[in-house]
Amino acid sequence: MKVGSKTDQGKVRAQNEDTFGYRDNLFVVADGMGGHQAGEIASAITVETILNAVLTSDFSNSLKEVIIKANNAILEEVDRRPELSGMGTTVAVLLLEEDFAHVTHVGDSRIYQLTNDQLIQLTDDHSLVAELVKNGEITEEEAKIHPQRNILTRALGTQGKLEIEVNSVPILKGDKFLLCSDGLTGMISEPVIKEIISLNEDLQVIAETLVSTANNNGGLDNITVIVVEV
Ligand code: CA
Repeated sequence: MKVGSKTDQGKVRAQNEDTFGYRDNLFVVADGMGGHQAGEIASAITVETILNAVLTSDFSNSLKEVIIKANNAILEEVDRRPELSGMGTTVAVLLLEEDFAHVTHVGDSRIYQLTNDQLIQLTDDHSLVAELVKNGEITEEEAKIHPQRNILTRALGTQGKLEIEVNSVPILKGDKFLLCSDGLTGMISEPVIKEIISLNEDLQVIAETLVSTANNNGGLDNITVIVVEV
C-alpha cells in the first residue's frame, strides 16, 4: 500500500480547520467548523478518537461505534469548555482490507475510488445542496455556486443521535482511493481530479498537485487530501 497526503489552509481562510491522519489500513479526513479555533479542535478530536479506536472484525458495526465515540468526544469537550459551543466537523473514514474497502462518512467530505479507469464517488454528501440535486430541484452545476452550499444536513458534534451508514465495495490491485475535504471538490471538477490521479505515479505528487490545483483555482477553503494505492 502506498500513501500520499497533504493539507493546506488555502488562499482565503485565516486558519486550517481540517485534520487528517492514518495508521495501517485506516484513513481519516475531518473538516471542522466553528469559530475561534473550535473547528480545528472538533476535527482533531475526531481524527484522534478514530485512529485510537480498536476495531473488531465486524467492520461495519465497529466503524459505526467509532463514529459515535468521536461524536460523543466532541459533545463532552463542549460540556467542559462552553466557549467551544457550536463546533462540529465532517468525517470521512476508509478502512482497507485485502479485497474490500469499507467506507463511512458524515457531512460533505468525500471518498473516491479510481478503479478500471473510472472515478467513483463512494460517499453521498450530507448537505442541503446534495438533497436539492437528488430531488431534482437544482442541477449539479447550480449546486456548486448555491449560496447555501456550505449547509450540512449531518455533522459530528451537532447532534446526540446520528444516522451512520457503512458501505463496503470490492477492490482490485492497483486501485487508488482519494479522501478529501470540500476545499478540493469545490475548486476542481471530477474529470480534472481523475486526470491528476491517473497521470501521476507518485502518490505524494498526486496529493500535492491536487492541492496546488485547488489553490490555483481560488483556494477558497482549507484543502485536505489523502491518496492511497492498494
Ligand atoms: Ca471545508
